[in-house]
Amino acid sequence: MKELVAQQRQFFNSHTTKDISFRIKQLTSLEDVLNDNIELLDRAIYNDFKKSSFENYMTEIGIVLYDIKQAKKKLTRWSSKQRVKTNLGNFPAKSYIIPEPLGVTLIISSWNYPYQLSLAPIVAAIAAGNTIILKPSEISSQTSGVMASILNEAFNPNFLKVIQGGVQETTELLKQKFDKIFFTGSTTVGKIIYKAAAEHLTPVTLELGGKSPVIITKDANIKMAAKRIVWGKFLNAGQTCIAPDYLYVDAQISETLLKALTKEIEKARYSFENDNYVQIINERNFDRLAALLDPSKIYYGGHTDKAQRYIAPTLLHDISFENPIMQEEIFGPILPVLTFTDLNEAVKNVQLLPKPLSCYVFTSSEQVKNKIIKEISFGGGAINDTIMHISNPNLPFGGVGSSGFGSYHGHAGFNCFSNFKSILDKPTWYESSLKYAPYTQKKLAIIKKLLKNQ
Ligand code: NAD
Repeated sequence: MKELVAQQRQFFNSHTTKDISFRIKQLTSLEDVLNDNIELLDRAIYNDFKKSSFENYMTEIGIVLYDIKQAKKKLTRWSSKQRVKTNLGNFPAKSYIIPEPLGVTLIISSWNYPYQLSLAPIVAAIAAGNTIILKPSEISSQTSGVMASILNEAFNPNFLKVIQGGVQETTELLKQKFDKIFFTGSTTVGKIIYKAAAEHLTPVTLELGGKSPVIITKDANIKMAAKRIVWGKFLNAGQTCIAPDYLYVDAQISETLLKALTKEIEKARYSFENDNYVQIINERNFDRLAALLDPSKIYYGGHTDKAQRYIAPTLLHDISFENPIMQEEIFGPILPVLTFTDLNEAVKNVQLLPKPLSCYVFTSSEQVKNKIIKEISFGGGAINDTIMHISNPNLPFGGVGSSGFGSYHGHAGFNCFSNFKSILDKPTWYESSLKYAPYTQKKLAIIKKLLKNQ
């Protein structure tokens, strides 16, 4: 690993990756590799957790291909020198900002959207002109295996290399000096990554998780809310970092909402056979989730099958913040419903929990929308929808507080892998004597005036 990092550094120092045409060529290669191997990619993700080719395209490969297209189109503009105003004290001069790549980067990803969470940061890192080592999750072993085989064959390892492995390999990688670490995963491991990065003062982006609330007020369109919540929650069997974690609903409409949610779940006919439902990724997560199914709280669903790692879409009711299900991120197809009678109180209760990655509000009131956005701190979210904010590349995607820091997607992804070099460019035909000794009261008066007025 030490040698690989050294080779990538040498390659980076050759300035090859700084050429825009090189970056576009690499993005095109990535596009070709994905298009040429779509069947292999489909099979691997199906073998990992029965994710269908439809969902593989909609939530993984299609998103990455779109990202590549955007980056190819916009990267010349993103990487160009930006002129900014020069202040009077520096007259005469030009001032500009030049985005430059950070260097050798490490991307560590998680298993739940194994392609998207590995390849979208790669697109951003390539667009910004870096070299990349990708360490995908060992838990989604088939998808990690296929990414390693196709990417390691298509790319020069001095530019892009996939290293497979778990804790041991990642720990070894983290001993090396990188110029950027981009991590997607749990808050617990995020802390390990941050500590390791601190040893080398390496900048990090941490894309972590948390409990993303959905607040529903009594003036909401309940039918539409139920439809969009059910889709966002049971997509990927709830194994989505921005999935609605819990519903917090006005007590007056909770029964109507529970009925509407039930109707939507039944309408969707979630099953492996219908290609719209996936397995729980492994036995460990299955056992963790099954333990959260308190029979006295089940409103709908609750059926499990350990051999198939199947947990039915489940609604829990009569839940309070003290229940075990409210103590950790659920990351599975179980949706607890809590109720409130006073929105101010509800907002206060959400504020007591760590800052979530996402927050959703279903309401028709502008006042409620504004209140939630102003009073709750969260990474990003949606009004009258769930999940979909992630699909707009013009919205930077990331967390805040325990749900992480830094953001990516679109231009934000390019920025995340760039340093912005600030340059003051001065001609030599004139130099003011103001800053030079002898210091006089007259000079000081001019300096004061300049600083006040510019
Ligand atoms: P994880 O933290 O267990 O693993 C993530 C990566 O870290 C994997 O590549 C793994 O090999 C590595 N890793 C695990 N233990 C390590 C250790 N001790 N030292 C070094 N590396 C280690 O997370 P996960 O189970 O893969 O993913 C689930 C979590 O990720 C959830 O909390 C979810 O919300 C979050 N997540 C966040 C986003 C986001 O974009 N913010 C996206 C997906 C998932």
